[in-house]
Amino acid sequence: MAEELREYKRKRDPKQTPEPFTSARTRSKAPIFVVQRHGARRLHYDLRLELDGALASWAVPKGVPLEPGRRVLAVHVEDHPLDYATFEGEIPKGNYGAGIVEIWDHGTFDLLEEKQDGGLTVRLHGTRLEGIWTLVPAKLGGDPKNWLLIRKTDEQAVPQGGFRNDYRPMLATLADELPKGADWLYEIKWDGYRVLGSVRAGEARLVSRNGNDLTARFPDVATALAKAARSPDCVVDGEVCALD
Ligand code: MN
Repeated sequence: MAEELREYKRKRDPKQTPEPFTSARTRSKAPIFVVQRHGARRLHYDLRLELDGALASWAVPKGVPLEPGRRVLAVHVEDHPLDYATFEGEIPKGNYGAGIVEIWDHGTFDLLEEKQDGGLTVRLHGTRLEGIWTLVPAKLGGDPKNWLLIRKTDEQAVPQGGFRNDYRPMLATLADELPKGADWLYEIKWDGYRVLGSVRAGEARLVSRNGNDLTARFPDVATALAKAARSPDCVVDGEVCALD
């Protein structure tokens, strides 16, 4: 896979970008992986796996899928140097991939299978990600760069109550006096629509306390939430209100 990072270096000027150009990290026993949230012109998540002395890399617009069976587009991009695994920061305007790079998850992986066509099956051991994913060079739309990233069912996985969708808003409790102590914070109680915002695969859905879908009613809020969330999969409890 490592074509001496020629493509990586061709796209970047070390005088203009803080991105690393070295692969000096001491090799741990297990190969490493990283997922970086990349707020480029189009927000995406980059999945990188240590293979043959470099980081094989895919840009995943919807983020790494969490639900077993779910498959998403993963655009195969140029290998990155190993030191990229710890890179966080801002790629300045005018440079390739300009925008903020943040580490979303990192860890090690087991290479379970490597196919003739380049397809890979890995078991990731991260902080957020734990389980099996397969990367398939599916040539979506005829483009060899367009792979699929698929979440597999993992028989060995410890059941974690599945993929939760049963969240409820935290409701206020009536009290005669304010609780005291350093563990308490206070905020203004805005009055609007109480919603749970579920971000799944980078898209937000807004649901009221009674389970009504409010996404179409507040499309700007849904779009802004998906962009503002620091994760492609999360649940946010909040109040939609207009300030005048
Ligand atoms: Mn990227």
